[in-house]
Parts: sequence; C-alpha cells; structure tokens
Amino acid sequence: MKKLYLHEWSWEEVRDYLKKDSVIILPFGSTEQHGLHLPLGNDALVAIRLAEDAARATKTIVAPPCWFGWSPHHMAYPGTISIMPETLTRLLYEVLRSLIFHGFKRLIVINGHRKANLPPMEIACSRIRNETGAYVTIADPFFLAEIAARQIRESPPGGIGHAEELETSHMMHIFPELVDIKKAVKNLPKKKKFHVMDPYVEADRAFTPSTLESFRKATQPSGVTGDPTLSTAEKGRRLHQALVDNLVELIKMARKEKVVLKPVTPCF
Ligand SMILES: [Zn+2]
Repeated sequence: MKKLYLHEWSWEEVRDYLKKDSVIILPFGSTEQHGLHLPLGNDALVAIRLAEDAARATKTIVAPPCWFGWSPHHMAYPGTISIMPETLTRLLYEVLRSLIFHGFKRLIVINGHRKANLPPMEIACSRIRNETGAYVTIADPFFLAEIAARQIRESPPGGIGHAEELETSHMMHIFPELVDIKKAVKNLPKKKKFHVMDPYVEADRAFTPSTLESFRKATQPSGVTGDPTLSTAEKGRRLHQALVDNLVELIKMARKEKVVLKPVTPCF
C-alpha cells in the first residue's frame, strides 16, 4: 500500500478496500506545550507515526489525523490549543459514525495525548460501540506497552509525567530533528501522597484537576513534569518497537473479531 491515508484515496479506492477489509486506524493527538525541548505537536506526531508504522505492517488504512485535544491546564504556556471535552467526544463520535456508516467495522483509535484525552474519548467509543455494534478500541501509549515502558524507564518515581524521559526518548527516535535536548530540564513533582501522576508507580491516588495557576506553579519555568534528562534515542526505539508490535497484534485481533453492525445513519 503506497498511500496510507484515507484523505489520499479516492472514494472508489475506499469502496474497494471495504470489499475485503473493514479496519481503520484513527490517530488523535493534541497541540500543547511540551517543555522547552519538544514541539507543540508532540502528541499528534506520536499518534501519526504509530498509526503509519502499524498501518504499513498490517496493510490498514489510516483516517485523517486529529491535531487537537483536551489540554486546559497547558494553556498556561503559549501556543497550546485546547478544545472542550464535549467537543472532542462529539468530534470522535461523529467521525467514527461516518466511517461505520460506510462499512468500517473495526476502528482502532490511537490517543497520542496519553491519558488526558481518555475520558472524552472513552465516552465517544463506548456510545458508538453500543449504538452500532462496531468494534472500537483505544490504544494509549501510556498503557499499550506498559510492560516495556516500566522496563525502559530509569527515572525515580515521579520521573514519568509530561515531556519526560519516555516521551522525549520516543521523539528522539521518531522525530530527532524536532527535539532540542540541550533545553531539557528535570522537574520531579513535590507532592507525593495521593497526587502521584507517574502511571508506573504503585500508589494510592486521588484526582485534583489542575488549574492554570496550579499547573504553572508546579511546572514553571519549563512546562515539564518528570525527568527528560535521562532520555535517549535507544530507549525511544525500544518503546516505539513495543508500541508498534502491540498495535499490530491489536489490529490482527480486531480482524478476527466477529462484528455484526446495526443499521447506522449518518450524523444529520
Ligand atoms: Zn505529550
């Protein structure tokens, strides 16, 4: 497959694809600050590259990427674009419904905005799955290769959060030209009990949403949470490989899934 993206195909090519296959990958990300050393498009770029590599390995079509996510507290830094969670839920729901209307039955959503986008995306996916019968699944780089991520990370508890060791390593592997590692600074969180953001640390947790002020205070002057100074391209290569391997497996599992679609109308 030379052309990976639906927006590069004609409707006739999509029709022919649907005669023999029904899987599609949807990359969703964000445009938000990622410290002084990573680009604002980080999360979308990660979702896009994961989608492309998994698509090539499995001959699967990729939907047009979404560059916007729910990033309210990152508005503390210039350039961030945040859409409301209801908008994200609606957008994903309506995109999925359009694709399902045409006959896509197995839809793999990649959430490059790790964890933060999950609640609105889960609502959209749960709703569409129950309404249409389609097989819809969300793959999030925080959790999709959690076993490998735990083995690769070297930072102490609190070292993984935002624009940190793993996210930076990943970018050093997939988009090295967009990383300015000299500007990477460490910012280990001060609050420990109940407010552990590091997903790979065993902890008792509570959730207090950030405000612009609390986020700025906790992350200034860089915008980082965690430790990107331990990042290497080799760690990123291992993480990317584990993520792509698992995506490939997930897509193969999706192809075997028995799916019976209910009648679906477009969104009017
Ligand atoms: Zn990110």
